[in-house]
Amino acid sequence: MRLIIACAIVVFSVLAAVALTRMNALSPPSTVATNAPASKPAMAPKPVPPANPVATVASIAPVSTAAAAAASTPAAPESTAAARLGTTVAAGPATPVPAAAPTPAPAAAPPAPAPQPVSCPGNPDALGIARTVQIDTTGGPGFGFEHFKQHDFLKPGEVVLTFDDGPWPNHTPAVLAALARHCTKAIFFPIGKHATYYPEILRQVAAAGHSVGSHTWSHADLSKKSPDEAKAEIEKGISAVAWALEGAPAAPFFRFPALKHPPEMVTYLGERNIGIFSTDLDSFDFKMRKPDQVVKSVMDKLKKNGKGIILMHDFQKPTAEAIATLLVQLKANGYKVVFVTAKDTLKTLPEYDEQLRQDAKLPTVSQRPTSDVVHTINE
Ligand SMILES: [Zn+2]
Repeated sequence: MRLIIACAIVVFSVLAAVALTRMNALSPPSTVATNAPASKPAMAPKPVPPANPVATVASIAPVSTAAAAAASTPAAPESTAAARLGTTVAAGPATPVPAAAPTPAPAAAPPAPAPQPVSCPGNPDALGIARTVQIDTTGGPGFGFEHFKQHDFLKPGEVVLTFDDGPWPNHTPAVLAALARHCTKAIFFPIGKHATYYPEILRQVAAAGHSVGSHTWSHADLSKKSPDEAKAEIEKGISAVAWALEGAPAAPFFRFPALKHPPEMVTYLGERNIGIFSTDLDSFDFKMRKPDQVVKSVMDKLKKNGKGIILMHDFQKPTAEAIATLLVQLKANGYKVVFVTAKDTLKTLPEYDEQLRQDAKLPTVSQRPTSDVVHTINE
């Protein structure tokens, strides 16, 4: 009798184990559920981008069993694994999957292939530029999912570096040096007044090949200005940048100060065919005092978003000090830089060029009252 009971327990255990195994096999991984809705929010949290190109390819398409097997075959050289993946992606399901869809991580981590070396003298670990895009700004398209809901042009793991409020001594050159060390490029949104203080620094930005947009004349909150005043802020800022660049092309790219977007001015920029850049990841670097905080802020937000247009300030000292480390970390975590350029060159409006020319008394950095600056020492 005891033997019969023991046998029954064994048989029951085996049956239960088999049933559990089948249930597990039929249940999709929980991350697949996030892939299901077709109308997902564009900037839904995404998994951290993998640190190798093979896995990146896998992440933009459903990973079939064969693809996963190919990717996880340790013996397969990188090119072979990638070729197999490419074949699998090309022969994928009839329903196309949006490139930016959140995807589950591959079931098994593929072997880490050697990263593609970037051609950058003196820096084998350079970020480089993964992709250059050209924006047709006709009609004033908006970018950055903090405010705009169109033009999701970044793939998982891709970032656009943007820097506001310069040019500024020491800080802007430090950012330029760090970007140059990585042979990578960014968009700068200078303040018009600052461009008139330090035109030679802004010319360095343009000479290094970065895209230069604008960011108003005096960094005024345009939502608190009349339409005419707001228009003058925008146009005088554009004229100041053009004046500083001495003929080097400026991009028809604009960022609103404090990301305040009055609707009349959004319409106005549309009529001027100027693209508007909000952000996907606001670093809030202007609130930070230490470079480590800036690096952590950007990397944490990227981990959550998986990609995005990153807003930083070359005007800020902690950012200038953080940028070298940040670029190293971006590279180490497999992120790729997309360089955003403009199809057309921005043309100034002559009346605002004239305003700038007539304003022979250009402002200086010092805002101290005369009683502070000039002291009678002998009378
Ligand atoms: Zn700003």
